[in-house]
Amino acid sequence: MDHIVMPASKANNSLWASSTSPSLKQNLQDSYDIAIIGGGFSGLWSAFHLTSLDPSLKIAIFEAKSLGFGASGRNGGWASSEYPVYKETLKKRIGSARTDQLFEALNGSIDEIGAFSSHHHEVGFAKSGSLYFARNKAQLKRLKGKVDGANTFLSASEVKERLNVTGVLGGVFNPICATINPFKLVQALASHLQKKGVSIFEGTWATPVSGGVLANSSFVKAPAVIQATEAFGAPGREFIPLYSLMVATEPLNDSTWREIGNSERFTFAENSHMVNYAQRTIDNRIAIGGRGATYPFGSRLRESKESTVKVHETIRSLLKSWFPVLQSVNFTHSWGGAVAVTRNWEPYVQWNPHDGFGRLGGYAGDGVTMSNLAAKVLAHEILDVKNELRNLHFVNQKIKKWEPEPIRYLGVNSLVKLSGIADAEERITGRASLLNRVIEPLILR
Ligand SMILES: Cc1cc2nc3c(=O)[nH]c(=O)nc-3n(C[C@H](O)[C@H](O)[C@H](O)COP(=O)(O)OP(=O)(O)OC[C@H]3O[C@@H](n4cnc5c(N)ncnc54)[C@H](O)[C@@H]3O)c2cc1C
Repeated sequence: MDHIVMPASKANNSLWASSTSPSLKQNLQDSYDIAIIGGGFSGLWSAFHLTSLDPSLKIAIFEAKSLGFGASGRNGGWASSEYPVYKETLKKRIGSARTDQLFEALNGSIDEIGAFSSHHHEVGFAKSGSLYFARNKAQLKRLKGKVDGANTFLSASEVKERLNVTGVLGGVFNPICATINPFKLVQALASHLQKKGVSIFEGTWATPVSGGVLANSSFVKAPAVIQATEAFGAPGREFIPLYSLMVATEPLNDSTWREIGNSERFTFAENSHMVNYAQRTIDNRIAIGGRGATYPFGSRLRESKESTVKVHETIRSLLKSWFPVLQSVNFTHSWGGAVAVTRNWEPYVQWNPHDGFGRLGGYAGDGVTMSNLAAKVLAHEILDVKNELRNLHFVNQKIKKWEPEPIRYLGVNSLVKLSGIADAEERITGRASLLNRVIEPLILR
C-alpha cells in the first residue's frame, strides 16, 4: 500500500463544522474484530451496518483529525440519488436492469438516512426534492433530455412559482432528494455508534499493516481492516482529487425568502457544465458550491485549493445573478474540500477475505447517499451475509488507472477550463457548445 497523503491541515472551516463536539479519545485495546480507518460517512456507515448485522462485533474507528474533517463535514448536503455516471451511459455499460437496481438501491439509502435522521432532528433532513433550472436554450435542451419517470419537466412559470430565479427558461424537478446538515449527521452517527459500543479514536493516524493497523505508533490486531479515507487515501493512479468549493450567506430574513421562494427546502442548481449545487439551510441561509478549482499535479492534496479566491468569487456572483435580492448579502463562510474521482467515474467497494482488507470510496462528489450504500454492501461482504446489493456492478471490480502525469494534469485541467468556456459560450449564443463534444469523451461519463 502506498503512503497516504494528507495536507498539513488546519481545521475544517465549513459552515457546518462551526458546531464542534468534544474530542473522542478512548482506551485503545490490543485487538478489535474490525478496524476502520477514516471518520467520515464511509467509515461511520460501515460501522453502522456492521453493528446492525452483528451487534456483538468489537469495532474501532480511527480518525486522523476529527470526525467529519474530510468531505463529510464540508459538503453541500444533497442526499440525492445522483450517480457520477449519466444514466444513459450506465445503461449502455451495464444494461437497464442493473442500472434500475442501482437507482432503487440509492433511493433506499436516502430513506435509510431519513429513518436514521428522524431520531436526530438536528440533521435537518427534508426530502423535498431537487430542482435543476435552465437559464439559456442549450441548458434547457439538455434538461429536457433528463425527463423520465423520476424527473418532471417544469415550464419557466412553474419554476418561478417554486424558485424565483432570474432569466429562467424551464426546469426539471426530481422528488427523490433530501437536504441535510452533513456535519450534524456525522455527529449523530458517532453518538449512535458509541451507544452501540463502537470505540472511536480521533487524532489517531492509522495505517493498514498485516494482521491489523498501526494506530499512531501502536500495533492493533484486527482480522478485518476497512480503509474509508476517500480522497486522502493513497492516490497513485487509481483516483484523483478534485476540489469542490462552497460559500454560505448569513441567515436570510423572511421577506427575502418570500421573494426567493423555496419554503420546502428542496436543493437547487443551474444546469450548466460547471457543476454547482445549493441548498436552503435549516437556519435559512443559502449554502452553495461549485467546481472550477484546478486539479493539483500528481494528485497531491493541496490545502490552498480549498480556498481558491477566484472560484469562491464566481460562486458568490452566480448566486447573486440568480437572485438580485441578494446583491448586498453578507457571505459568512467560504471553504472547500476534495472528492475522489476514478477513471471511469464509478465508486469502488472491495473486500478481500484472504487478507481481511476492504475499502470503499470514489464517489466523485455524490457521496452523501452513496457512502451509505457502499458501506452497506461492504458490511454484507465482510460478514458474508446474503444480499442482492452485493451484485451491484461496482462491487469487487478492479479500478482502472488514470493516465500518468503530465497527461492526467493536462487532461483534467483542460476539462475544468473547457467546462467554464462552454458555459460562457452557451450564455452568449444560446446554443449547445461545440466543446461538449470534447468534454464528454474526456470525462468518459
Ligand atoms: C465541497 C464539497 C461538496 C460536496 N457536496 C456533496 C453533496 O451535496 N452531495 C453528495 O452526495 N456529495 C457531496 N460531496 C461528496 C461527499 O461529501 C463525499 O463523497 C463523502 O463525504 C465522502 O465520505 P468519506 O467518508 O468516504 O470521506 P471523508 O469524509 O473525506 O472521510 C475520510 C476521513 O478519513 C480521514 N483519514 C484520512 N487518512 C487517514 C488515516 N491515515 N488515518 C485515520 N484517518 C484518516 C480523514 O481525516 C477524513 O476525515 C461533496 C464534497 C465536497 C468536498
